[in-house]
Amino acid sequence: MTTGGSLGSLRAANRAALLRAIESAGSLSRADLMRATGLSRTAVSSLVGELLSDRLVVEREERGTPHRGVRGRPPVLLELASNRGAVLAIDVGHSHMRLALARLDASILDELQLGFAVDDQPAETLDRLADQALGLLDNHNVGADEVRGVGLGIPGPVDRDGRMTSSILPHWRGLQPGAELERRTGLAAHVENDAHMGALGELAFGAAHGVSNAIYVKAATGLGAGIIADGSLIRGATGIAGELGHVQVDPAGKVCRCGSRGCLETFVSGPQLVQLLQPTHDRELTVELMLALAEGGDMGADRLLADAGRSIGRVLADLCNVLNPERIVIGGTLGASTTLITGVREAVDRHAQPSASAAVTVVGSQLGERAEVMGALALALART
Ligand SMILES: [Zn+2]
Repeated sequence: MTTGGSLGSLRAANRAALLRAIESAGSLSRADLMRATGLSRTAVSSLVGELLSDRLVVEREERGTPHRGVRGRPPVLLELASNRGAVLAIDVGHSHMRLALARLDASILDELQLGFAVDDQPAETLDRLADQALGLLDNHNVGADEVRGVGLGIPGPVDRDGRMTSSILPHWRGLQPGAELERRTGLAAHVENDAHMGALGELAFGAAHGVSNAIYVKAATGLGAGIIADGSLIRGATGIAGELGHVQVDPAGKVCRCGSRGCLETFVSGPQLVQLLQPTHDRELTVELMLALAEGGDMGADRLLADAGRSIGRVLADLCNVLNPERIVIGGTLGASTTLITGVREAVDRHAQPSASAAVTVVGSQLGERAEVMGALALALART
C-alpha cells in the first residue's frame, strides 16, 4: 500500500482515458491527446511519462511532415505497446463474488458473478476465487505474467499489512486475503474493504467523479462507508475508517456480529429490514422483493426504508459536521431505494450544521452493484 488510493484512482482513470484515445486513433501526439481528453498540457505530459516508463505506450517520430512554419522536429507520436497487459478486479461480498478482467484502458474483457456464502468459510471462498480468477485468464488467453495489477475487495476491515484484524468478520480474523490469493494463483493483490472499493469506484467512474470530498455508503447485507477527504481515501490507523455500520445508536440494543451492542447495522441492514417486514406478508420476502413492494406503494415497506434512511442519515449528519463532504453516494442493494435516499437527505438536513448540510448533495450510486468491482479495477490500474 503505497499511494493514496483515491488520487491514484483519479490518475488511473485519466491514464485509461489516454490509452483509450490512443487505441481508437492508432497514434496521437501529446497535443492531440490534450484535445481528445481535455486534460492540461502538464497532466498529459506527466501521464504520458508514466505510460512510457511502464512500457504501455511507445514513441514514434513522424517522418517527412514537419509542421508548416514551425522550426524544429516533427511531432512525436504515441502508440500502444504490443503487449498491453491486463488487470484483474475482484469484489467479494457477504454472499457473492464478482470478478472482472480488463485492459489497462479500463475496457472490460469479461465479468462474472456468482453467489457464495462468504462470511463463515474463508478457505473455501479463497479456493473458489482462485479457480475463477485463473479460469477467467485462461478463457481470454491472458498469461499470469501479463497481469499488471489485481484489486481485491473484502467485506471487512483490512489493515496496512493486508491483514484482517477486526472482529467484524470473525471467521476471517488474522487472515491476509491478498497473500492467500497469491499463494493459490501467483498473483499479488492490493486489498481493501468493500466499502472503500465502492468509494474508489464511484470516484473514478461514477457518482463521485471529479469530487474531492465524498462519502460512499454501502448499504446491503452489512453497512459500511468509504470516506474521500481532500482527494484521498481515509483508511485510518488499522483500516477501520468508515465502519459506519458499527456506530452505536442504542447501548441497550441487540448484540451485533462485531460483539458490540445496538450498532446501526443491527437496525438497517437488508436482512434486518426484511425480517421486520415479513410478519405482514404471507410469501417469503427478500431484499429485492421488499424494494419492489416499496416502489409499488406498500406502506409498510416504504415506512421501513424511509426510517432506515433517516437512521443512516442521522449518523451521516455528524460525519457531515466533521468532514464537510460535498457529496454522499448511497450504494449497495438498499441504495436502489429512492425512499431510503430521501430519508438520508431529511436526516442530514435536520441534524447537520446548516452550512454543512447545504454543501452536500445526496445521490444514489451510478455503478450500482458494480461499484466495488469497479473500485477494485481503479485500484489495480492505479498500482500498475
Ligand atoms: Zn457492530
